[in-house]
Amino acid sequence: MEGYCVKCKAKSEMVDAEEVTMKNGRAAMKGKCSKCGTGMYKILGMKK
Ligand SMILES: [Zn+2]
Repeated sequence: MEGYCVKCKAKSEMVDAEEVTMKNGRAAMKGKCSKCGTGMYKILGMKK
């Protein structure tokens, strides 16, 4: 799973990724950047 890390300002591998549902009902992946450990989200946009 890849996501965008705001700290690295680049795409990065996401570790400990889990699917979450945000308050607005959208699905997202929540995880940590494998490089710096910053929490990162990836918006999935659509529900499966
Ligand atoms: Zn990072």
